[in-house]
Amino acid sequence: MDLLKERIVKEGRVIGSSILKVDGFLNHQIDIQLLNEIGREFKNRFSDIKVDKILTIESSGIGLACITAQYFNVPVVFAKKALSLNLDKDVYVADVFSYTKNTGYNVFVSAKYLSKGENVLIIDDFLANGQAALGLINIIEQAGATAVGVGIVIEKGFQQGRNHIVEKGIRLESLAIIKSMEDNKVIFE
Ligand code: 5GP
Repeated sequence: MDLLKERIVKEGRVIGSSILKVDGFLNHQIDIQLLNEIGREFKNRFSDIKVDKILTIESSGIGLACITAQYFNVPVVFAKKALSLNLDKDVYVADVFSYTKNTGYNVFVSAKYLSKGENVLIIDDFLANGQAALGLINIIEQAGATAVGVGIVIEKGFQQGRNHIVEKGIRLESLAIIKSMEDNKVIFE
């Protein structure tokens, strides 16, 4: 998706050797027009599959998932990172290792919002080692639903996420795939 790649080149900042900061349009301030185009592109890429629900993880995934869901006309469910008092007792739980925070945490989805037999599309902002996506796939499996695809805005192709998802036989569509980020320069595949 050229529009997205142009924004990454123009505004993205490489932190260390493997973190890309895109706070100006995706992770802090959000460019809604760009998000709208991202949602449209996900719909184009997954237009051949039946999607009943979109699943993401709080917090950066929520805006993306909501705009994308308007094109599919389906509800969004987001996995919560904390078990609050108002969350139902009957929950699916998965353990996720955070790439950016370098620590493990649990994600929770109420059993009420994922049902057996549903086709679920996962949407997230970044793919690094695939831990967030694998956690969501695990939750979908616990519900007896099917993960029909994973849609990612920015994939860091030099990390292992793609292998983990494809190994599970799940379709992966990434709108921008980064080959390398050496010397502060982002090179796409
Ligand atoms: P994974 O679970 O695939 O290892 O990492 C993906 C998650 O970590 C995404 O949900 C995203 O929030 C965060 N993440 C991983 N790498 C980056 C990065 O380079 N930049 C930003 N902004 N977030 C990242």
